[in-house]
Amino acid sequence: DPYVAADSRYERVPYRRVGESGLRLPAVSLGLWHNFGDDKPLQTQRDILRRAFDLGVNHFDLANNYGPPPGSAERNFGTLLAEDFRPYRDELIISSKAGWDMWPGPYGFGGSRKYLLASLDQSLRRMGLDYVDVFYSHRPDPETPLEETMGALHHAVTSGRALYVGISSYSASLTARAQEIMRDLGTPLLIHQPSYSMLNRWVERGEEAAEATGASLLETAAAEGMGVIAFSPLAQGLLTNRYLGGVPEDSRGAAGKSLSGGMLSEENLARVRGLADIAAARGQTLAQMAIAWVLRAPAVTSALIGASSVAQLEDSVGAVANLDFSSAELAAIDEFAVD
Ligand code: NDP
Repeated sequence: DPYVAADSRYERVPYRRVGESGLRLPAVSLGLWHNFGDDKPLQTQRDILRRAFDLGVNHFDLANNYGPPPGSAERNFGTLLAEDFRPYRDELIISSKAGWDMWPGPYGFGGSRKYLLASLDQSLRRMGLDYVDVFYSHRPDPETPLEETMGALHHAVTSGRALYVGISSYSASLTARAQEIMRDLGTPLLIHQPSYSMLNRWVERGEEAAEATGASLLETAAAEGMGVIAFSPLAQGLLTNRYLGGVPEDSRGAAGKSLSGGMLSEENLARVRGLADIAAARGQTLAQMAIAWVLRAPAVTSALIGASSVAQLEDSVGAVANLDFSSAELAAIDEFAVD
C-alpha cells in the first residue's frame, strides 16, 4: 500500500539549528550503518523508515560503506526512497560519507579528491539522488593534504552534488584548520559528526596534542560555527536495557559484530546498571536518558541513533519528552559516565 506520511509528523521532535547555519535538524536522527544491509528484511527497513518520518525524524544518515555488503544500505535506501519517500524529498535531510575502505586499489579509501568525488557519484547513483543534503569526509587522512580533502568537499557543493558538507571524527585542532580552509573557499563546514555517549566522552576533553590549543572538540565546533551530530549515543546498544540480563543472540553484542566483548566488560555493565537506576528515577528508559544526555550539551544539534526495530525507534524518540537535567542528576550520572 502506498505510504502517506502522518499529518502530525512535525509535532513531536524539536528541530535545532546546526551551528550558525540556516539549517535545522531533528533532535534525534536515524543512521543506517547497521540494520539496513542485505542481511536484514527490506520490510523491516521500510517499517523503521516510515515510522521515523512519521515521528519527525527526517534526517537519515548513510555512508558509502554501510551494509553489509558495502553499498547495500544506500541501495536499499534508494529503493525505499523511490517507493515511499519521493514526494517528501524536500522534507528530508540525507547524508553520505566517504573515507573508510570502499573499493580495491589506491582510489577506494582515504581523503583524496579522486576517491571522495568518485565515491559521492557512486552514492548518488545507488540512492537515486541528484544531490545529498550533507556530504562528509568520514575520517581524517594523515596521508592527504587537508587542503585537498577540503577542496574536494568544496567542489562537491559547487558542482551541485551536495548542499552542505561536514567532517567526522576529526580532532579539535584539525577541525579548526579545516574550517579555516573552508571559510577561505566560501563553503564553511556545516557540521561535525563525532562519537559521543555517557561511556565515550572524548569530545568534552581538551585536546592534548602539541599543535592543539587545549580546546575540546565541542568547544571548537561551537567556536567555528559548526553543529555537532553525536553518533552512537547509545554506545551501540550498551546504554539501553538490552544487555542487563546477558547478551541477546539477535543483538549487536553477539559474537562477530561491531560491539565487541571489551565494551561488554563487567565494569561497563556495572556502570550501565547504575545509569539505568538514574533513568528510572527520571521516569525514562536508559536509552531515552542516554539520548537526552548528549543533547544537554548546547553544542550538540542532534543525537544520531540506530534502531533494529520500530519498537526501539519509538522508545528512543521518546527521549524528547524529557530533555532537562537537574544538577543533582548530572552529578549522579557523572559517577557512572566515565570512559
Ligand atoms: P546507537 O548507539 O544508537 O546504537 C544503536 C543500536 O542500539 C541498535 O542497533 C540496537 O541494537 C540498540 N538500540 C537502539 N535503540 C534501542 C532501544 N530503544 N532499546 C534497546 N536497544 C536499542 O548508534 P549506532 O552505533 O547504530 O550508530 C548510529 C549511527 O551513527 C549509524 O547508523 C551511523 O549513521 C552513525 N555512525 C557514524 C560513524 C562515523 O564514523 N561517522 C560510526 C558509527 C556510527 P541491536 O541492533 O543489537 O538491537
